[in-house]
Formats: sequence, structure tokens, C-alpha cells
Amino acid sequence: MPSDRWDVIVVGLGAMGSAALYQLSKRGVRVLGIDQFSPPHDRGSSHGDTRLTRLGVGEGAHYVPLAMRSHEIWRELEAASGEEILSETGGFFFSGEEQVSPVHGASDFITATIAAAEQFGIEHEVLDVEAMRSRFPQFKYYGKEVGYYEPRAGFVCPERAIDVQLRLAESQGATVWRNTPVTAVEPEDGSVRVVTDRGAQTATRVVLTAGAWISRFLEPQYSDRFAVYRQMLFWFDVDGSIDDFMPGRFPVYIRTDRTKDDVLYGFPAVDGPNGGIKIASEQYLAQCDPDRMDRDVSDEEVAQMHALASRFLRIGQCCQRATSCLFTVTPDGEFVIDFHPRHSELILASPCSGHGFKHSAAIGEMLAELAIDGETRFERGPFVFTQ
Ligand SMILES: Cc1cc2nc3c(=O)[nH]c(=O)nc-3n(C[C@H](O)[C@H](O)[C@H](O)COP(=O)(O)OP(=O)(O)OC[C@H]3O[C@@H](n4cnc5c(N)ncnc54)[C@H](O)[C@@H]3O)c2cc1C
Repeated sequence: MPSDRWDVIVVGLGAMGSAALYQLSKRGVRVLGIDQFSPPHDRGSSHGDTRLTRLGVGEGAHYVPLAMRSHEIWRELEAASGEEILSETGGFFFSGEEQVSPVHGASDFITATIAAAEQFGIEHEVLDVEAMRSRFPQFKYYGKEVGYYEPRAGFVCPERAIDVQLRLAESQGATVWRNTPVTAVEPEDGSVRVVTDRGAQTATRVVLTAGAWISRFLEPQYSDRFAVYRQMLFWFDVDGSIDDFMPGRFPVYIRTDRTKDDVLYGFPAVDGPNGGIKIASEQYLAQCDPDRMDRDVSDEEVAQMHALASRFLRIGQCCQRATSCLFTVTPDGEFVIDFHPRHSELILASPCSGHGFKHSAAIGEMLAELAIDGETRFERGPFVFTQ
């Protein structure tokens, strides 16, 4: 086989691309992974130390097998690498005063979470306000909340997961090109040409996992399927003793509210007693260009976050650090994992819409199956690229 001819090329090595590369290399195919930066990096959607994971997935029951399989794969990666990737700290998810509050396209997130847990036999408890107050006094309650607690929910370390999968992929024979922007992906008859400044490469199939940049490789009629929004992450001091916020005492959590912009979620004090707690909400007001967005978080944005979070949580005034990140969102909040509508050699994967990381390890497996076999064991119906 000539050196510029591959079975599969993976374009973009973030959460999804690194998982796909690992799974493809495990199956022994000739695979090249290319990224414009040196992953893990802080320019895309997969940085900021932690990503929340839960098995009762309120965004839809079709996501549950992906989250469950991802937990299994992360344990496999931990055994192979000696690195800690997944921490099951317990997860607490509760609604505000009004039950109906959309999260990632799910109109009644807590009810749907409970239903998914019941359907798949996932260990959980439904909590009333009294039980919530006594179990998690770190939050402020207003009397009408509905709560769900899942002991196996927790967080994944995104940078570590990417790094481990890339390292294992290389040790299994994959080739990785870092700091190599792909300038064109051109489907030809029965193959795909991938153009970089290191030359053009050809593959039988290409997996396109370019995150917030995916539209750049698609025809103009498809680009409005992927809206990119700037998000922010904040690490605040707490009000009172940090002991109450350490892992073991404090869970990962999501607190829904009246609108999707008022959702609050966060993590325990994973950086120890002096690192603060990471909190975030979601912004869908203004779309952005991933190459031109303002990466800095302003004082005004910190003040807005403090005002939102302090309604629900005992946080202090001091924001230790903040960073920005990118959501790529489809109109219905579902993922896109599908063959290109006109070129079956090209597989598109945009599993973000703000909730993709917890599924990424299994999505890598799904993408490897699609690239090699043309089909997958996972349900894919909701992820088709409809126009
Ligand atoms: C702030 C924030 C919080 C989140 N919280 C959660 C959470 O708690 N739980 C959860 O499950 N999910 C969460 N998500 C979503 C999750 O992180 C994303 O679904 C996931 O990271 C998307 O991965 P990706 O591989 O699609 O994109 P990325 O990881 O960004 O990877 C895309 C890669 O493609 C590369 N690329 C792009 N263009 C080119 C090119 N021309 N040439 C070469 N390479 C290219 C980029 O450099 C990048 O490395 C969150 C996302 C954000 C932004």
C-alpha cells in the first residue's frame, strides 16, 4: 500500500476523534489521525478539567447504552494506562420551581432522567425537598424542587481521556499528525482525499470529527445544521468550609430552571481545599466563529455568573479562574453521527450539543464500526443527518 493511502483517516482528534482513533487502531486497520493543534488543547470543546457523566440520561433513553459503554471503556483505558479518568462521585440533578425546563433539547429533563433510570435499572433515588435539604445543604432550595440522585454519576477528565486514547492508539500502530491543519476533505469515487500542508492523503473512509469547525468541510446547504456558541467555565471560592464541597460530600450536579440559559451545573472541589469549585451555565444567545471568538472571560461575565449561581449555591465572591469553550449545537439538540448524504465514504460526527463527552468513548467504538463494517451495534436512528 503506498504511504499516502490509508484505510481510515480521522480529521480532528478531540473527544470523538481520539476515541475513534483508539478504537480503529485496536481493530488493526491502517489509520491516520490529524489535528490542527496538539491535543489535548484548550481551543475546542474538550478542555476545563472535568466533564459531567450520568447513566440516567434525560436527553433521551437512546443515549443510555452509550453512557454505560463509555464507563466500561474508561475503566479499560485506566487499566491499560494506569491513569485515573472516571470518578463516580455521585450525581444530584434537580429542577427549579417549575418542573418544565429544557436541557439539551429535553423539555422535562428531571422526569425524563428518572424514566431513563427506571427503564434501564440504573440505581437511583427520587428526592423530595426535605430529603434534598438534609442530604445536600450546600444548595439553596425554594420549596418546589424535584430531585434525582444517581450514585454512579460523576466526572471524566477530558484532557486525560484524550491523551490516553491518543497514546494507546499510537502504541497500537496509529499514526498521529499534530499541528497539521486539514484544508480540504474531498470525496472521490470510492475514496476520500484529505489535503494538508504535509501533502494530500487518501483513505477508503474518512471520519470527520472536527468539532466546532465541522461546517468548514460541508457544502453551504448543510452548514446551518451546526451552530457554534461560546461557553464559559468558572472556578469560585465557596462560602463557608470547603470540606462540605470535597468529593465524597459534594456531588456533581445540574440545577434546571425556567429557561435553558439559567441551567447551572458543577463539580466538587477536585483540586483540593484551595482550588475552588467549578461551576457553569449554558449560553445560547450569540453564535460565534471558533477562530475569532473572545477567549477571555470579562469581569462582567464573572459578575453575571456569581449572580446566577449564588441563587442556588453557597459560593464566595472570589472567582479564581475562568475560561471559555465551544458548544456545537444542532437544531434539535441531538448528535449527528452519519454518513454524508451523498458520499458514503465520509462519516460525519458532531456529538456535542453540550452533552457529548460522557458518550465519547462509545462513540469512538461506533465510528470505528461504521468506518470498517459500514454498520454499528449501537442505535443510530436519532443521529441521522436529516436535512
Ligand atoms: C464548556 C463545556 C462544558 C461541557 N460539559 C459537558 C459535560 O459536563 N458533560 C458532557 O457529556 N459533555 C459536556 N460538554 C460537551 C463535550 O465536551 C463535547 O460534546 C465534546 O467535547 C465534543 O468533542 P468533539 O470531538 O466533537 O470536539 P473537539 O474536542 O473540540 O475536537 C475537534 C477537533 O477537531 C480539530 N480540528 C478542527 N478543524 C480542523 C482542521 N481543519 N484540521 C485539523 N483538525 C481540526 C480541532 O483542533 C479539535 O481538536 C461540554 C462542552 C463544553 C464546551
